[in-house]
Amino acid sequence: MFSLAVSGKLRRTPHPRPVCFTGTDGAGARMENYNVFAGAFVYRSGERRKDREWLASAIRSDHSRFVPVWGNKCLVGGDPLRAVLLRKLQVPDFVDDQHLIFLGLFHDQPAFAFSLSADGSAPFAELGEWRDLRFLGSELPPDEANLAAHARALVLWHASQLYCGVCGSPAQPEAGGNSRVCGNERCGREIFPRVDPAIIVLVADQDRCLLGRKSSWPEGRYSTIAGFVEPGESLEDSVRREVYEETNVRVGEVRYHSSQPWPFPSSLMLGFVAEATSSDIVLNDRELEDVQWFTRKQLRSGFPKLPFRISIARRLVDDWLQMDIDDG
Ligand SMILES: [Zn+2]
Repeated sequence: MFSLAVSGKLRRTPHPRPVCFTGTDGAGARMENYNVFAGAFVYRSGERRKDREWLASAIRSDHSRFVPVWGNKCLVGGDPLRAVLLRKLQVPDFVDDQHLIFLGLFHDQPAFAFSLSADGSAPFAELGEWRDLRFLGSELPPDEANLAAHARALVLWHASQLYCGVCGSPAQPEAGGNSRVCGNERCGREIFPRVDPAIIVLVADQDRCLLGRKSSWPEGRYSTIAGFVEPGESLEDSVRREVYEETNVRVGEVRYHSSQPWPFPSSLMLGFVAEATSSDIVLNDRELEDVQWFTRKQLRSGFPKLPFRISIARRLVDDWLQMDIDDG
C-alpha cells in the first residue's frame, strides 16, 4: 500500500506485487518469466500520470526516488552492486519538473527517471560508476534491473521524439513523461513510447539445435536466431521468415517460451522454440557469418560459447538443454 499526503489528504493506491511461480509444467517448461529486466516490480500507476497535482506533490516528497540516466548509462555502486537512486535534493536544478519521467511506484514510493547530458565529466562520481545496462543487468537485483531498464527506455525514447513526426513542430512531455504532445495546436498529435517486437527462436531438430553467429561477435560465440517483426506479420510468420532468411531451414510448430524487455534502445524480445522440418543450411541473407547444428553434447562441451547469461537467448538454450535431463 502506498500513501502520500497530497493537499492535506492521504491518498492510497493499491499496489499489486509481482507474482512469481517456481514450479514447472508437465513438459518441463518454466511457468514464470525469470528473464533479466522482466518482472512487474514497478506499479505503473497509470491513473496518476495525468494528475498534475499528485505528480507535483510526489516530486517534492522525501520518499520519492529519482533514477539518473547519463547518456545511455545508469549509475550503480556498492558491493554487491545496486542501482543508485537519488533524492529530489540531489537532482540538478537544470532538470525541471516537466522533464522528470514518472515511472510508477517502486517499493510503494514514487519513482522518476531523468536524463543527464553525456557531455563533460561524469556526474555523481562520488556515488558510484556509470555502466551500460546491457552488460550489467544480471548483476543487479531483479527489481532494480527492471527499474533501470524502464528508466533507460523512456529517457532514450524522449531524446528521439523532440519533434512531431507529422508536422515537424516541437513536442513536449505529457502524462508525467509517459507520452509527448505536438505543440502545434492545429496538429496536437499525441506520441506514445514505442516498443519494437523482435522474435528470438531456438530451432530444434531432435537432439540438435540451430545456432548462428555474426562476424562482429567474440570468437566462438553462437546464439539463437533473431530478427525484428515486420508490419503485417504474426509472430509465428516472423519466426518462420527470419529462420528461413538467415539459415534456409524450414520451421513447423512454433511454441511461445517467454519474453524479455530489451531497452537497447526499445526492443521486446519474444522467445520461441520451434521444430525444424528441413535441415540444409544456406546463409540466404548473409546476415550471419556462420550457422550450424549443435548437439546437446557439443553445447555442454564448451564449444560453441553460449550466449551471455543476461539474454533470453541463453534461457532458450539452457531450458532446451534441461529438457533432455527432465526427459531422461
Ligand atoms: Zn504535429
